[in-house]
Amino acid sequence: MTSFQSPSGTKDWLYPESEHMAYLVESFKSHVELANYGLILSPMFEDLGVFVRGVGDVSELVTKEMYEFVDKGGRKLALRPEGTASVMRAFLQHNPPVPFKAWYVAPSFRYERPQAGRYRQHHQVGLEAIGTDDPGLDLEIISILFDWLTSLGLGNLSLKLNCLGDTNCRPAYLELLYSYLEKNQKFLCKEHMERWSVNPLRVLDCKKPECVAIKEDAPKINKHLCPDCKLHFETLLAALDTAEIPYLLDDYLVRGLDYYMRTTFEVASLSLESAQNAVGGGGRYDNLALALGGNNTPGIGFASGLERVLLACEKEGVVFPLDYGPSVFVIDLIGGHKAGELTMTFRRAGVACDRSFDNRSLKSQLRQADKSRAKLALIVGEREKQNNSLQLKWLDANMRERFSAFLADFLDSYVVSESDDLSTMKSYSGKSYSGENKDYTEQYQISNTLPTDMAIRAIKEFFK
Ligand code: AMP
Repeated sequence: MTSFQSPSGTKDWLYPESEHMAYLVESFKSHVELANYGLILSPMFEDLGVFVRGVGDVSELVTKEMYEFVDKGGRKLALRPEGTASVMRAFLQHNPPVPFKAWYVAPSFRYERPQAGRYRQHHQVGLEAIGTDDPGLDLEIISILFDWLTSLGLGNLSLKLNCLGDTNCRPAYLELLYSYLEKNQKFLCKEHMERWSVNPLRVLDCKKPECVAIKEDAPKINKHLCPDCKLHFETLLAALDTAEIPYLLDDYLVRGLDYYMRTTFEVASLSLESAQNAVGGGGRYDNLALALGGNNTPGIGFASGLERVLLACEKEGVVFPLDYGPSVFVIDLIGGHKAGELTMTFRRAGVACDRSFDNRSLKSQLRQADKSRAKLALIVGEREKQNNSLQLKWLDANMRERFSAFLADFLDSYVVSESDDLSTMKSYSGKSYSGENKDYTEQYQISNTLPTDMAIRAIKEFFK
């Protein structure tokens, strides 16, 4: 026991709970690989400027939530609060061919008030596609997020969309919004009464009743889009209709970060509390490359928080098809090297295998095998040692049935070597177990005792 605890707002993921996270990452990887996205790994910390200039020095993410530090060499660094600015920095640094299509899985660090579904370190999977402003890419990105979440089994999803304009039309719109808010500032919530002028768009995102009332009559960006942005957005909407992806237009979806332009989107799980129900979101960031000192290069991406996705899955009763635990657990009652030898043989053949240590009793080893969720316990006792056999005890009744059927065929096709006596083998199979321990004998009534060589071959074949 230690008095140390994980820091506030962070969570330890232990096995087997961590398998759910691993499952999400695996499924994300397979899903995005279908669309030809490749993995990018970039540092967990960056030069502070990457976020200040990329994400924006007035965004809350930068002003309030960033973990900043000075390293021993006096460099100003920050733990990454989100993935896009880092990926764009890497893109600009290495100049890979475009379109550059990358996926990532990484922790994000945000100094927020911890609560259910909101952590100071959470884990994101995300995509970035850099190098074109074709609305077809907007469709690709949005549909990948939506289809991935749906493929997990989530049903109660809502996709919201907005277009924030670009450098042509947004400045004029911001002026309109600015004058409207200036006139109405005394009616805003306490925070925005003081801060509205720093980032007027942010007021549209505020959920406080005072701001909600005021923003209803505020000018809306989609009424002030230039023809290019309008066409871009309409093309995307038509493509989403064709792809049968349902969406809602949301004038207030501004997403808080300065780099967003044109398309922004967010997927919420309506099964979660509304304050923390975003399971993924993103948008276009056609100006980000310029902000980081690179050439003008458009891009679009999204990130999804794994903890939130898991919460949504729990709420909706989604069960992942997880099959954890080893296939085989070796129980060694004679000590020596047998357990080590056998586990290694199976592992080298690609069969997941575990064993116990410390020469424990049969009962204790069987209990361990059970806890490990192994399907098969393989017992090597004195009797087995003497007649060079292994005893197979199925811990999973389903598997036992399947193995019995498999064994009949296997014995027929088993290549009989000079030392093998097929009739003895057939009589071996199906023998019932009569071990020392009553409890376990009753629990696993059927076991097979097979010659070692054949048992190993049969097990390898069965689990292949
Ligand atoms: P954002 O860049 O804020 O849109 O974040 C992308 C996704 O990460 C969100 O849609 C959430 O699923 C998740 N997320 C953001 N902040 C947190 C947090 N503090 N704790 C857990 N998940 C988060």
